[in-house]
Amino acid sequence: MTVVVVGAGMAGLRTCEALRQQGYAEPIVLIGAEKHPPYTRPPLSKEVLRGEADVSKAILRTTEGLAELRVDVRLGRSAAGLDVDGRRVQLDDGSDVSFDALVIATGATPRRLPGSAFEDAHVLRGIDDCLDLRTKLVEGARVSIVGAGFIGLEVAASARALGCAVTVIDVLPEPLARVLPIDVGRVVRKLHEDNGVVFQLGAAVDTETKLDADVVVVGIGAVPETSCLDGSGLTIEDGVVCDSSLRAAPGIWAVGDVARWATGDSTLRVEHWTNATEQPHHVARDIVTGEASAFETVPYFWSDQYDAKLQSLGRVTSTDEMQVVWGSLDEPRWVAFVRSGDQLGAVVGMRAPGRVMKMRGLLAAKSSYDEALASLA
Ligand SMILES: Cc1cc2nc3c(=O)[nH]c(=O)nc-3n(C[C@H](O)[C@H](O)[C@H](O)COP(=O)(O)OP(=O)(O)OC[C@H]3O[C@@H](n4cnc5c(N)ncnc54)[C@H](O)[C@@H]3O)c2cc1C
Repeated sequence: MTVVVVGAGMAGLRTCEALRQQGYAEPIVLIGAEKHPPYTRPPLSKEVLRGEADVSKAILRTTEGLAELRVDVRLGRSAAGLDVDGRRVQLDDGSDVSFDALVIATGATPRRLPGSAFEDAHVLRGIDDCLDLRTKLVEGARVSIVGAGFIGLEVAASARALGCAVTVIDVLPEPLARVLPIDVGRVVRKLHEDNGVVFQLGAAVDTETKLDADVVVVGIGAVPETSCLDGSGLTIEDGVVCDSSLRAAPGIWAVGDVARWATGDSTLRVEHWTNATEQPHHVARDIVTGEASAFETVPYFWSDQYDAKLQSLGRVTSTDEMQVVWGSLDEPRWVAFVRSGDQLGAVVGMRAPGRVMKMRGLLAAKSSYDEALASLA
């Protein structure tokens, strides 16, 4: 039996490791489009971008470490096609790799913007993007960041730390308004304004846009990387569509940013680091035991900006109602519950990591909103 893993990022590497941890001793082939060995991305918008940590700190396993795992790793090599019935992955050099089990872990690709203002714009996804941007973030540089999501805001904080003049532009009325309640966005905007960032909110950019900047960064989200699956017959709808056990087809799974799986009466795709570590363990167990079970999780992410750690557990839509349950939004530290109908939908907090993480059980138990409030008494 051979397991082929396409994508040598966080989720791809963790799949190989989990297979070995769970006793799988047969061949594993790991195919990675980038020339770098698997690495973790969060430091690329934080300490590595600021030059405080060497890029080597982000590497999760060197090629020697991969050899210890007994993984046949093909770096700098992309999957170009998939033959589901023939159980083969076609590579960009024209060769084929046969599989008995396939794990798709191709992550996501940053969205870009058309127009002359964005011709030389930076995006931030990989090591090469980070090193390129790092050379431009010099003291006094005027940096315009389009997109007040996590990547844009973390780049803004890092650029301010490096002495750049930073403007953040977004079409929405507050930062993070797509992913968190508007009140959180207000707090985060103030944090950045107190650190000297200028916002242009409610401001759409288009192909005619002119930006008075030395450096332009576009952080407007990412799309699941599924181009190698075109024509494969797998269902692709903003991600690789999987059942509740992360199976996309018999013997084929998807994990990490690219996976959209069935949960309850909807589907979910999560672009967070923790998800890219949890799903591989679930899939490895399924491959090793042959027993499918539903993947259950409480989605979690964190973001570090200046001295503040912002965390969110659970699922939030921007319109959900939020109630502060510890501290106050006018103070540096707080925790809030987010209501989703009668249920506790999410817990969001700033500079309160212990308190936020303690609430995970409430979400895992699918507590009602009232039960969750009562548990604090
Ligand atoms: C700058 C940055 C900062 C982040 N910070 C945080 C944070 O603070 N907190 C948090 O929770 N999350 C954070 N994230 C999100 C987190 O890093 C991702 O959720 C995680 O990297 C997803 O892992 P993945 O393995 O699914 O995808 P990726 O890490 O994108 O790995 C996919 C790999 O597959 C490769 N690939 C794609 N197509 C092919 C192909 N056809 N053939 C072969 N290989 C292919 C890609 O080149 C890539 O190396 C951050 C992301 C970025 C970019």
